[in-house]
This record gives sequence, structure tokens and C-alpha cells, in this order.
Amino acid sequence: MLEVRNVVGGYGEIQILHGVNLTVHRGEVVGLLGANGVGKTTLLRVISGLIRPSGGQVLYQGQDLVGISPARLLRMGIAHVPQGRHIFSDMTVKENLLVALDRVRDRVNAGERLEYALNLFPRLRERYHQLGGTLSGGEQQMLAIARALAPKPDLLMLDEPSMGLAPVIVESVFKTIRQIAEDGTTILLVEQNATAALHVVDRVYVMETGAIVHESERLDDSELQRIKEVYLGLG
Ligand code: ATP
Repeated sequence: MLEVRNVVGGYGEIQILHGVNLTVHRGEVVGLLGANGVGKTTLLRVISGLIRPSGGQVLYQGQDLVGISPARLLRMGIAHVPQGRHIFSDMTVKENLLVALDRVRDRVNAGERLEYALNLFPRLRERYHQLGGTLSGGEQQMLAIARALAPKPDLLMLDEPSMGLAPVIVESVFKTIRQIAEDGTTILLVEQNATAALHVVDRVYVMETGAIVHESERLDDSELQRIKEVYLGLG
């Protein structure tokens, strides 16, 4: 479904990605693990059209995405939940979700999608008329995911959904991520918290200084331990 081929790029003169190769098949949850600052976020920005790479290809169902605007990518079914959530804090939960659905009303049944998002995150239903900015960190993360998911993307990219959340909330958010995948959305999940990703991902890539250095077909406890020791410095 998604194929990143030898992608090189960064910010102006600063090269962050040194030839990244990664594949996501339809129906999978693929984890991208790596320590602070190795370029995971930068790669998601390249895939979602926010940064133009200086080399390589990003193929989505065989089509090269390089140069396509983020808005068009969204219409093509690619959604990105950036790090730090970026919900509209002066809009209610309901308004945040409706804004996301506005752009795709010709393509999806908005009422149905709203219900789907609220069923996944019952907490958001309880907070439906509350301003985004007054939600807890966990609720804001739920809203950010719900908003990206409402337009019915085929591929959902999540950038560190566990960041800043209490362990019990992380567990609940990750359970929902698994549910989203089972409902048919393919997921590329960037995480620093490898333990949180353990029960969610089908396959894992590990990134170090702008390149993939390891791939695991399965992430079990012993593989997780090895990745932590060898690549993440968390022995
Ligand atoms: P983290 O998990 O800490 O977010 P990451 O693996 O996602 O790390 P990136 O956010 O991709 O890492 O950052 C990779 C490098 O790019 C870092 O050294 C960072 O300082 C640098 N960087 C990020 N954004 C910019 C920017 N707008 N301009 C210049 N350099 C940047």
C-alpha cells in the first residue's frame, strides 16, 4: 500500500533522512521505533506532503506522492495525527469533528462517521460540547485520532500517541488503535515508547540517525527487550 524508497531529505541544508526504506501492506499496523531525534517525525512529514524530500520516492498504491499537497493526500485517504495533537482548542469536540468531516462530505456519510468515532471513544461523547482546550491530555489525543479517522482514511499515521499520557490512558488509546486496525484502517505508528507499541503492532522498523537499521517481523517480549537494549539504549 505504502512504499518508501530510499528517501533522503530534511530541513533546508540539514539532512535528516539518509535513505529510508519502509513498506506498509494493507491491513497492517506497522511500528516505527527509534530514540529521540532520529528522524521519525520527519519521515511522517515527508509521507504526508509537509516536507518535500530531496531524493527517493513515496509510493502509495503505486503512485508517487512527492509534490502532492497535504490536502489532496487527505482526499486520497491518507491521514496524519501529528505529535502534540493540534486540535482546535477554542472549538468544541463536536465542532472539531465536524470540521474534519466538512472536506469529505461528498465521499462519506458524515453522520455515520461521527457515530463511528464517538463509539470508538465514548469519552468524547461525554465531552461532546466541551471546548477542545479544556480536555485532558488523554482526551485531546483521543480527539486528535477521532478527527483524523472521521473522514474514513485508508492509511492512518500516528506520531507518538503515547506522549505525555498516564500509562492507563496509553493502554486505552492503544487498545482503540488496535480496534481501528481491525475495522480496516491500515496504520503506521511512530513511537518512542516501544513497550506501549508491543501489543498493537504486526511488524516493526527501528530507525537510527535517519535510516532504518532493523526490521522485526514479529514483536514479542524478547524481541522488544533486544530492540530496547541494542537500539534504544534502554537496557
Ligand atoms: P522525537 O521522537 O524526539 O520527536 P524524531 O525521531 O521524531 O524524534 P524528528 O522530529 O524527525 O525526530 O527530528 C529529527 C531531527 O530534525 C532533530 O535533530 C531535529 O532537531 C531536527 N528538526 C526537526 N524539525 C526541524 C526543523 N523544522 N528545522 C530544522 N531541524 C529540524
